[in-house]
Amino acid sequence: MRSNDLVQRSVNHFRWLTFPVLEEYNFVVSGFMVKNRVPFDGKALKPGIFFKNITRPARPVISLKQVHQDECVIITSRGKLKKRYRGDAILTNRKDILISIQVADCVPIFLVEEKRKVIGLIHAGWKGTLLGIARRTMEEARDRLDCKPANFTVVFGPCIRSCCYRVSDDISVLFDEKCTRRPVRSEVRLDLIRANMQQFLNCGVKEDRIFATANCTGCNAELFHSYRREKENAGRMTGFLGLK
Ligand SMILES: [Zn+2]
Repeated sequence: MRSNDLVQRSVNHFRWLTFPVLEEYNFVVSGFMVKNRVPFDGKALKPGIFFKNITRPARPVISLKQVHQDECVIITSRGKLKKRYRGDAILTNRKDILISIQVADCVPIFLVEEKRKVIGLIHAGWKGTLLGIARRTMEEARDRLDCKPANFTVVFGPCIRSCCYRVSDDISVLFDEKCTRRPVRSEVRLDLIRANMQQFLNCGVKEDRIFATANCTGCNAELFHSYRREKENAGRMTGFLGLK
């Protein structure tokens, strides 16, 4: 896994962060909205205005009703387009939409398949990770969109890292012990990125095409919302991807 630090981009007054590795693909528009940096903070949300400034002409922004399971939604040009689908992963080859996910500690995963020009997003918390959502998404991409996992670039966005992600013993035992660590005897920490990375590698994604930002949502209250830190009042950050 390689590190890839977020960079800031703006159009008009709208600012967001993105990943240099995704900007290398000239057929992709990508981003991750941080707290207080854009006129976009969960409640006072006017995503339409923000997204209208990202792409011209404006496109429908497809969101997910995220339920911490392993369902992967596939959107092709066939069938009627809905604004919202139930699931925790989404894949598309359509150029006339933006896809989005919302996170506040869970791992946002950005996917680009170069040959077939397919993009995807995954919302992976501990439950979805345990269900194998990364593996399931790679299988769906292969079986339904004719993608090869070896052609994917995978980027892990800001999430809660093992420095801050303390879990109970009941949860930690469900994971491979390589994904947990115990800095002191009474505490166990979970590394969700490592658990998901293992699934991508097992599916055939190349290790040098897997990237992660160093940012931890738990450590950085200025930039990120964190469900762990802010509890029920936590806002959400939106990650988005589109094909040009
Ligand atoms: Zn941390």
